[in-house]
Amino acid sequence: MNQHNHDFNEFVIDLIREVDREVAGDIEKESVFVSPFIERIYVDANGRQARVIARNGADLVEIQAKAKRFLDVMVKQVSGFEIKVFAETKRRDIGPYHMGVNDELVKRGWMYDYGKGQVAYSGPVLKLAQLINDKAGELYHAAFNAKDSHYPAMIDADTLHKCGYFDSHPNAVTFMGNVVEDFDAIEEFRRANSCSEGALMPPQEHIHMDGMCLNPAACFPCYPTLKGQDFSKGQCYTWLGRVFRYESRNINGLDRLYEFNVRELVFVGDEAYVRSIRTKALPVVEKLASFIDIDCQVQTATDPFFATVSAAKKFWQASQEVKNEIKIPALGNDGSRKMLACGSINLHGNFFGKRFGFTSANGEPAQTGCVGLGIERWVLAAFTQHGFEEKRWPEAVRNIIFK
Ligand SMILES: [Zn+2]
Repeated sequence: MNQHNHDFNEFVIDLIREVDREVAGDIEKESVFVSPFIERIYVDANGRQARVIARNGADLVEIQAKAKRFLDVMVKQVSGFEIKVFAETKRRDIGPYHMGVNDELVKRGWMYDYGKGQVAYSGPVLKLAQLINDKAGELYHAAFNAKDSHYPAMIDADTLHKCGYFDSHPNAVTFMGNVVEDFDAIEEFRRANSCSEGALMPPQEHIHMDGMCLNPAACFPCYPTLKGQDFSKGQCYTWLGRVFRYESRNINGLDRLYEFNVRELVFVGDEAYVRSIRTKALPVVEKLASFIDIDCQVQTATDPFFATVSAAKKFWQASQEVKNEIKIPALGNDGSRKMLACGSINLHGNFFGKRFGFTSANGEPAQTGCVGLGIERWVLAAFTQHGFEEKRWPEAVRNIIFK
């Protein structure tokens, strides 16, 4: 164990199994959730050792043990599934990918980054976001006769629990807190803030959580509304949802936001209906990608589940091909090409039909599936692939967004 500077300590842990780059990437990303005293964990290029960056004031014995427990779970992840490509579009624009899109958008005054995983935007960024959302909605109406709907941004914990979210992504949940309904506590909070420089949070014991959360997956709030209904004929719903995923220190411009927008499509019916909609969703995604003129792929995928559930669920997802991911090439902060996950196409079986009590033929629990498109990532990918020269954008798009 060697000390490098005053703020951080670094130490190395040998992995009990060699890992590939895919698992190494998951380890590095999830490592921000291991301990408040661990800045991050990096896996060496050989995949055999992890370098733990500990924060000042850490009990090194304790966090070494914690990091070891985390790593022992993570290295058991299954990876290297065969990736199948189900749909692919190639752009007609032959110009180079543009690097540093986030910074350029801020510089042009089209985007404001609050620094906590939230952005404000206007001008061409807003117009492109709206255009992608509108175009997707239009395609869903035409192809699936989808019904428009709207859902709240908050969701109660019982619904999330029913959706199995705490089991798969406990680290990403955001609970709402309120000052307790207590005259003295409220007054104390008011007084403390009336003359303070920055905001002062109420003490822990004066905050109560009544079980409201910020919605972490666009389709969840739809399911309670379907209760008791019959979907023998099949039905699609579509809307623009606001989604929140706590990413801790992993936030990064439009690449990884805490709060973002998703154009969602949910389909409900019997197995044949749900499978047919999924099949028909592929050319719809291709249409959207070629409208904006971007390189895009739909391929098999697995969710980055929380460490302890990862191995089993990933294997199940990949082997059943229940999740396809929409991947759009973009550039990392260092200029290297990366595949940005811009959406997913999912089959849920009768999981939600059973849990929320809605049926298809013969009163059987209905099956569901969904397609979610992360609007801000589509925007980022489009600016990466076309840059800032208007003439490189397809005419139908540039006439709207640069007007
Ligand atoms: Zn969904």
